[in-house]
Amino acid sequence: MAVGVGDTEQVLLGSLVEQMRRCGKLGCRCAAGHLHGPYTFLTLRGDKPGIRYVPAALLASTRSYVQRGAHVEDVLAEISAINVELLARRALA
Ligand SMILES: [Zn+2]
Repeated sequence: MAVGVGDTEQVLLGSLVEQMRRCGKLGCRCAAGHLHGPYTFLTLRGDKPGIRYVPAALLASTRSYVQRGAHVEDVLAEISAINVELLARRALA
């Protein structure tokens, strides 16, 4: 089985969420329920968890980093499961 994590530099561990927002200004259309947005936010996991606003100009590259991050996590989980199996076989040998 060939598994590879690929380029591990362009990786983000998190997820993208779109939200509609109220600006809070009196008389703004959002006060009547016509919210602003959608705005995209990056929910980060790992050492520095948190939520960051993603500007439209960075959306495509951020999305690609997040997708690669999910892929790398899947591959690592797969490799880990294989290694558990291999260790178990060595323990029985
Ligand atoms: Zn508003």
